[in-house]
Amino acid sequence: MNIVQVYRTFPTQQNCIDYLEKVRWNNKPTCPYCKSENQTPLPKENRYHCNTCNTSFSVMVGTIFENTKLDFQKWFLAISLVLNAKKGISARQLARDIEVTKDTAWLMLMRIRTAMTENCDLLEGIIEADETYVGGKNKNRHTNKKTKDGQDRGGEDKTPVIGILERGSKVSAQKAKDTSGETLKSFINMNVKSGSQIMTDEWRSYNGLALLYGHSIVKHSMGENVNGAVHINTLEGFWSLLKRGVIGLYHYVSSKYLNKYIDEFCFRYNNRENVNIFDLTIFKTVNL
Ligand SMILES: [Zn+2]
Repeated sequence: MNIVQVYRTFPTQQNCIDYLEKVRWNNKPTCPYCKSENQTPLPKENRYHCNTCNTSFSVMVGTIFENTKLDFQKWFLAISLVLNAKKGISARQLARDIEVTKDTAWLMLMRIRTAMTENCDLLEGIIEADETYVGGKNKNRHTNKKTKDGQDRGGEDKTPVIGILERGSKVSAQKAKDTSGETLKSFINMNVKSGSQIMTDEWRSYNGLALLYGHSIVKHSMGENVNGAVHINTLEGFWSLLKRGVIGLYHYVSSKYLNKYIDEFCFRYNNRENVNIFDLTIFKTVNL
């Protein structure tokens, strides 16, 4: 849904609340504290009184909307803007678009990213694996190319990121403490089914993958980018999207929050053909 569709589908605060309640409870409001369905509606406040544990609750408890006083319409519009922004949206831009302060927009973005976190199944089949560097100060932005022997030169203020991509399917990525064999291979082992065929470049940390997987290597140092089906171009395309987002919009992404930005980009990529991505995201906002 684009923002016009969101605006038309949810013209009032009450429409949004009704939709959230339906998505979360399927019309059976359930106490988030004791799981009881024995409740009495308090319709004026959009709350319910739990007759079992004697507390009251609303659909916001335990969701990304908890303890905020913002209109749900602004939340819904913000979610739609994030989902439709291929390269992400900055807090400053979101603040202008939905008329909130920059701090509020930043908080909303962080919470929306929480709803965009996925627990992917193990990837299998043909897998591209690669590592890159993101963030950092301007002067180091272009120093993340690998040298001929596959040695990285990330720059001290850049953060390494490891990713794996199943061809024609999903990507999974996260920040890494380094690009050692131990770090890269343990990420791959935890997220890729054994017996899969993994494509990497010649970076030495990938040596030894052949113990559990098929391992094909594209030799960038020999001027090779593609050798038949052996390449990591799909994942490199994802890296360039992520980096343009991080550089263009977030200027300096603190390493502390980097995984949240990465989750956002992975979620959009993995749902690129999902026509129900808005409904899925709303579902995740109330089912964390
Ligand atoms: Zn209760």
